[in-house]
Amino acid sequence: MNDASGESPAAEAVAEVTGDPASHRFECRSCGFVYDPAEGVKKVGIEPGTAFLDLDPLSFRCPVCRSKVGAFKDIGPRDKPSGFEENLNFGLGVNRLTPGQKNVLIFGGFALAFAFFLSLYSLR
Ligand SMILES: [Zn+2]
Repeated sequence: MNDASGESPAAEAVAEVTGDPASHRFECRSCGFVYDPAEGVKKVGIEPGTAFLDLDPLSFRCPVCRSKVGAFKDIGPRDKPSGFEENLNFGLGVNRLTPGQKNVLIFGGFALAFAFFLSLYSLR
């Protein structure tokens, strides 16, 4: 195997990041899962020490949300000099029912019961 030739143009986006690309961690943009090559993913049989770039891009899926490798972002090596990896989660995914939606549920159920009641009356 020889991958010394043909640098990917996409690499310039993370040109600031130093060190061996094989040690870089990758974060799933869908769910925030971080792939750490030092740990691998025991759950899906990926040995510790496996670089993200050595994973099979066709078969690897995020162990949490099943996203493909395209959803992962290079967040640099674990021992990076400064806070590259800020907390970028801004509370998305908190999906609570609004009072309006609750009203729709309640009113919908009420209307259904009422319609059922009416049909009973019409039988008389
Ligand atoms: Zn994920």
